[in-house]
Amino acid sequence: MAEKSSQYQFQAEVNQLLDILTHSLYTHRDIFVRELVSNAADALDKARFKSIKGEEINDSDLDLEIRIDLDKDNKTITLSDTGIGMTKEELINNIGTIARSGTSDFVKQLSQENVKDVNLIGRFGVGFYSVFMAGEKVEITTQSATPGEPTWIWISDGKGEFTIDEAETPAKRGTQIKVYLRDDAEQFADSYTIKHAIEKYSNFVSFPIKLDGEQVNTISAIWREPKSSLKKEQYTEFFKYLAKQPDDPITYLHFSADAPIQFNSLIFVPKTNLELMGFGRDEEGIHMFVKRVLVDAHSKDILPNYLRFASGVVESDELPLNISRETLQENPYMMKIKNTVVNKFLSHLQDFSKDEEAYKEFWNQHGRILKEGYNDFQHKDKLVELFRFNSSKSENGDELVSLRTYVDRMSEKQQDIYYLSGSSREAIENNPAMDLFKSKDIEVLYSFDPIDEFVLSGIVEYDKKKFVSVDQADLGHLNDIPNQDKDEEKEETKSEDLKDFDNLARRIKDILGGKVEDVRLSERLVKNPAVLIGSQGGMSAQMEKIMHLYNQDTKLSPKVMEINPKHTVIKNMLSIYKKDVADPLLNKLANNLFNSVALLDGNIQDPHEMAATIQELLEETSKLYIKE
Ligand code: ADP
Repeated sequence: MAEKSSQYQFQAEVNQLLDILTHSLYTHRDIFVRELVSNAADALDKARFKSIKGEEINDSDLDLEIRIDLDKDNKTITLSDTGIGMTKEELINNIGTIARSGTSDFVKQLSQENVKDVNLIGRFGVGFYSVFMAGEKVEITTQSATPGEPTWIWISDGKGEFTIDEAETPAKRGTQIKVYLRDDAEQFADSYTIKHAIEKYSNFVSFPIKLDGEQVNTISAIWREPKSSLKKEQYTEFFKYLAKQPDDPITYLHFSADAPIQFNSLIFVPKTNLELMGFGRDEEGIHMFVKRVLVDAHSKDILPNYLRFASGVVESDELPLNISRETLQENPYMMKIKNTVVNKFLSHLQDFSKDEEAYKEFWNQHGRILKEGYNDFQHKDKLVELFRFNSSKSENGDELVSLRTYVDRMSEKQQDIYYLSGSSREAIENNPAMDLFKSKDIEVLYSFDPIDEFVLSGIVEYDKKKFVSVDQADLGHLNDIPNQDKDEEKEETKSEDLKDFDNLARRIKDILGGKVEDVRLSERLVKNPAVLIGSQGGMSAQMEKIMHLYNQDTKLSPKVMEINPKHTVIKNMLSIYKKDVADPLLNKLANNLFNSVALLDGNIQDPHEMAATIQELLEETSKLYIKE
C-alpha cells in the first residue's frame, strides 16, 4: 500500500518568490519551458554519467530523451525525461522546503522590477519555480535511478503548500512534470508556441527533444565543429543557452588543440559581471565533456579563479570517461589543458584589447576580478599587459591607460613607474605629494581600488621599471627630470634662512610630538604648505590603511611631515617663531597644519581633536580681525 499523503510548507523565501512569480505578468513567460527542459537535460546528463561510471541504474535500456506532450483540450503541458529522477528526500531538499542560496538574491532582483531579470532565474538555482508563471497546478512524478526507490508524486498549486505521495504503480526511471495551465497561459498548450520556445532557448540541448512524438531540436556540439562553418549568431545563441544570460557575449574564443593533448574549447566572456551586480561569487565554471559526456557541469579545474567571469566548454576525447572529480584534478592531462586554455584565452584578450572601446567595457565589468590574477606567476607577463589604470594624463576618470602606454610615453630620465592611491580622482589630485609630479609633468597612475596596492606590489616591476607610490618616491630619482612649470620660477631660499627654517621644523616637531616621525624641509612641495611622507621601502599610505582595516590592532606608523619654506603659511610661522619661540599661536598653527595634511592623506585619527583645534584658530583669527 502507498504511504499516507504527506503535506509540506514551502520555505518562507520560496513562498515569497512564488508569490512574485504568480502575481506579476512577465513578458517572457516561455522561459519556464527553458528551465524545465534544462533541468531534464541535467537529469539525463547525471543518469548517463552514473551509468558510465559503472553504477547500477534502473531501466538502463531506456533511451536518454526529453518528451513534451501537449493537451489543448485539457490545457496541460507535460515534460518527461528519462534522467536520474529524485528520491523522496531529494524532492524535499530540491523543491520547496529548503531555500537554495540564490532564492533571496533573486527575490531581491525581481523586486527591483527589472523585467529582464526574470530571465536570469536559472542562474540563481531556482529555475523550477518559473513553472508557476504559467501553471496553476503542477504535478511531478519521479522515479529515481537508484534501484529500490519507490515512485513519488509531488503536487502543488504554488500557494504555500505541496504534497508528496507514493505512486500506486511504479513508473520508469525519470521525471514527468505535468503543468495545468492558467487560463491566461493557454498558449503553452500550443505546439507552435512550444516549438518556438525550444528553438529560441533549447536548441543546444544534447538529447533529443520530442514534441508530441516528433524530434524538434538538432543536436549539435558546436565546439566540435570547425570555426569556418559557424556563424556569429550560433555562438551567441549557444552562449545564452550555456551561461543562462540574456545578453550577447562581449567576446569569445573557439579553438582546438592537438598537442600535447587533443581537445576542443569554446570560452565566452559575458557582457555583464554578475558578481559585480552583487549576485555573489560566480561559480559557473566550465562544462567539461569527455567523449560527448558531460562529466562536470561546473568544472573549476580549467580556469583559474581570476577568470571566473568566463564560461564555456572544454571537451577532450583523450581523458578517461570514468574520470571522477578527484582524479580529474590529479590528471596530468588536465594540467596541460588548463595551461593551454589560459594561455590562449589571455592572448585572445590581448587581441581583443586593440578595440579600445570594447575593451574598456570589458575592463569595467571584469577588470576587478582579472586583477586578482596578479600572483599567477606563470601567466604574469600576459596578464599585466591586460591591466588598465586611470592616470594623471587621462582626460577624465573614465579614460584608461595600459602599462605599455605609460612606459612608452615616459621620459627617458624617468626610472620608475609612479602610482598613487586614493578614494577618488579628486582626492588623489589634491594630495600634496602630487605637487612635484605635476610640475615635472610625470605621469602618475591613479588607483581607486584597494586591490591595486597588492597588484602593483605583487607584480613588482614592469619592463624592468619598479612601481613606486608617489608618497614614497625617492627624490634623487627625479632630480634629472626638469621642471615644466615655467611660472614656478625657482626662488632660492637663502642658506641663512634655511637654518631658520630648520629650527622652525624642529620646533614644530616638538609641538607635534609623537604624531610625526620627524619634520623636515621639503623639496617636493610646490603649491602646498606641507605633506606627510611614508618611509621609503615601507608600506604606502594606502596599504597601511588596508592593513589597518583588516587588523585594527596594527597601529598606523607616524610619518614624516615635510614643510614648504616657500609657502606663505610657513614663512609666516617663521616670523612668529623668530619673535617668540613660545608663542601659543605657533602651537595652534602647527597642529592645524598637521591635521589638514593628515586629512588630505585620508587619515585623520581624531576628528574631535581636529574640530577643536580649528575652532580655537577661528576664535583667534576673528579676534585679531576685530582688533584691527
Ligand atoms: P537548478 O536546476 O538551477 O538547480 P531548479 O529550481 O531548476 O534549480 O531545480 C532544483 C533542483 O531540482 C535541481 O537542482 C535538481 O536537483 C532537481 N530537479 C529539477 N528538475 C529535475 C528533473 N527533471 N529530474 C531530476 N531532478 C530535477
